[in-house]
Amino acid sequence: MKLLMGILLALSLAVMVLCLFATHFKEHDLKNLVQNILSIAILIIFNYEIVLFLDDEQWNLFAHSIYFVATDWILYYLLQFSIEYSGSDFNQFVRKKAMIFLLMADSASLLLNTVSGHLFSLYVSDYKGESYYAMSTKPPFYVHYFIIIMLVSFCLISLFYRAFHMPLFYRSKYLAIAVILVIIILANIISFKKAIDFSIIGYSLEGIALYYCTFVFTPQRLLRKTLLLVSQDMTIGLIVLDIEGKLLYSNNFARDLLTSDSTLTDNQGMSFMEWCRKRYFSNEDNAAQDYIFYRGSDKITLNIQFQNLMDSHNNLQGAYFVIYDRTEEINKMKEERFLATHDSLTGLYNKSYFCHVVEGYIKSHTEEELLLLCTNIKDFKMINDLFGSQMGDMILKGCADIIRLKENKAIVYGRLNNDIFALLIRKSDFNENQFMSRMQEIFSSEIENEFSYPLINYIGVYEIIDRSIPVAVMCDRAKLAISKIKGDYHNRVAYYNETLRNDIRYETELISDLDDAIKQKQLKMYLQPQVSSDGKMLGAEALVRWEHPVKGMISPGQFIPVFEKNGLISDVDKYIWETACQQLLAWKKQGRDNLYISVNISPRDFYFLNIYQIFTELVEKYDINPRNLKLEITETAIIMDFQRQMELISKLREYGFSVEMDDFGSGNSSLNMLKDIYVDILKIDMIFLQKAQDEERSKKILQMIISLSKELGMPVITEGVETVEQVQFLTQMGCDMFQGYYFARPMKVEQFEKIYFTD
Ligand code: C2E
Ligand code: CA
Ligand code: CA
Repeated sequence: MKLLMGILLALSLAVMVLCLFATHFKEHDLKNLVQNILSIAILIIFNYEIVLFLDDEQWNLFAHSIYFVATDWILYYLLQFSIEYSGSDFNQFVRKKAMIFLLMADSASLLLNTVSGHLFSLYVSDYKGESYYAMSTKPPFYVHYFIIIMLVSFCLISLFYRAFHMPLFYRSKYLAIAVILVIIILANIISFKKAIDFSIIGYSLEGIALYYCTFVFTPQRLLRKTLLLVSQDMTIGLIVLDIEGKLLYSNNFARDLLTSDSTLTDNQGMSFMEWCRKRYFSNEDNAAQDYIFYRGSDKITLNIQFQNLMDSHNNLQGAYFVIYDRTEEINKMKEERFLATHDSLTGLYNKSYFCHVVEGYIKSHTEEELLLLCTNIKDFKMINDLFGSQMGDMILKGCADIIRLKENKAIVYGRLNNDIFALLIRKSDFNENQFMSRMQEIFSSEIENEFSYPLINYIGVYEIIDRSIPVAVMCDRAKLAISKIKGDYHNRVAYYNETLRNDIRYETELISDLDDAIKQKQLKMYLQPQVSSDGKMLGAEALVRWEHPVKGMISPGQFIPVFEKNGLISDVDKYIWETACQQLLAWKKQGRDNLYISVNISPRDFYFLNIYQIFTELVEKYDINPRNLKLEITETAIIMDFQRQMELISKLREYGFSVEMDDFGSGNSSLNMLKDIYVDILKIDMIFLQKAQDEERSKKILQMIISLSKELGMPVITEGVETVEQVQFLTQMGCDMFQGYYFARPMKVEQFEKIYFTD
């Protein structure tokens, strides 16, 4: 019996030493505790071997003490372990320091027993023919028992407490340790005062169990169930097929793909399940890639990873598909790409993308003759300011619609910025007149209906000859061509060429010279007389001339359109207006306060200046009669913003100014409109006197204008009168006043005075 027990203990001792050794290499929070417990358990077993086989009473007594001390500490560490291992909050009830103190005291008392014998003594006993040392205990020994019972109870409470707060799967882990502990106690009770203490084996079992639970044990069912839960709710689809290609498992995500109301199909109408099966039987290699499927009309992009399942002998077991829905990601990418490459208002390409696409096209179509067109809406900024940006947006969208038209045959088109659109077109496809009239037709029918202002789109054309020039520069050149037409009422298309470049350089020079021109009085006011039908000089129109120190005499036709484009015209006008007032004052002082001067107001001035304020201040400053300052407002300026202009004109007339409608008949106004216009004088444009194709027709119109204004009580002046015949028929028609080369050309003030002040 002794031998059997000895062998059993030796075996378990070997296993535990192995465990202890293995623990050394583990990484775990509880590593130290497990090492302590295993070490003490090894000590207990080794010690018990001594008890079993050593025949010396004194040594045996000492070994017993060691055994009891060791049980104290092994239970202590077990308690620590069970608290830590189970992560229970039980440790808040256990006073660690007090316990260690108690255990130290008990250990000291137990070791002292070897010499004092105050706890127990040994006597030789006999069991089945073999002799053992049996123990006779004294009452103080029960203190040790009490400590043991306390520790065991704490351990058990802690373990059970945790076990029953845990899901079922985890419970076994805690219960295993608790049960072994109970077995040790029971064995201890059974073998109490018996010859052989079977509980010793329990310690080795407990040590090994701890090792197993801590480092080896993972509940398989738990693992399976957990994996299943994880895979069910993943946002990635998982489909597993068995060896015959039947569906073995699919998670929630994949089930949606397989069995939704509107089925998912590939481009040949094959259902998703069939598709998976076909892929499985296709014997193709494992791979992951994007596939397109359809749900109704919706396009779905799935990234599918296919993998054959092999067992350890490399035999096919089935296959699985890992499916990742990339639809949203791809749509988002497309949307982002769209936003980065398109203009948000019109949906056309933006500038950088337009240039990029054009560049690609130019490079790959070297044999084609190509044009780059830019369009620009006349006075768009002003329209935007006057009618609001909502209206502006509407016009831009309309413009984009025109650009998009198939008939335009544009290869690439886009919106560069603001009201500037660009097109790439084959030279052979571009018919200037057709293109313009189509554009103007749609412009007037689609947009003007909602909007009474006449819209005009200018076009600048750049012919692509040198293909190495950056597309952005080509666009700039086409735009430059447009800047040349602005202000020219008859021309709407301009081609970029070297002359244009020179013109533009010339314009730039004019712009930079203007400041000096005003300061150095290079701008001169010329006067052209206005005469009555009997030839009497009534007054004069002020016409500006630029006596440039280098470029010589520049006529207003050359620089006014340039300054009208950028608003500098207002500086010129203010200067001439003031000069005119100074002249009127000078004449007044000479007693000639019956003469008047007509000054021109550019349509742009209404936009940049407070006309009413400027003129009233001027007449007050120079103390002249407003009646002597006539204001020429062009027909275009009036139509552009009819209501406001009429209000302004009526205010100016109320103050005493005489208002003339200049260039009547050159713009878009109708005769009909005359009755709504209240001005002092109507100035008929010289266009009717110029050699017209149909002279008779021009004369008829002239006659109608003159008759109508007579009826409305408005005096008429005709400008551009060059011949005596013109004077005659105009007089017959009832024209009151004339202005033109027939009477006199515009001239310097001194000359004017010399000719007309001869009295
Ligand atoms: P406009 O106001 O219609 O002025 C009449 C133009 O016709 C003047 O040209 C004048 O010289 C010209 N003219 C006069 N009689 C005859 C004629 O019998 N036959 C022909 N063929 N032409 C005649 P000019 O001085 O070159 O001015 C051109 C335009 O420049 C003016 O047209 C006016 O719109 C503008 N302009 C001139 N001075 C000023 C100014 O100080 N301010 C503004 N805003 N515009 C001005
Ligand atoms: Ca004029
Ligand atoms: Ca005129």
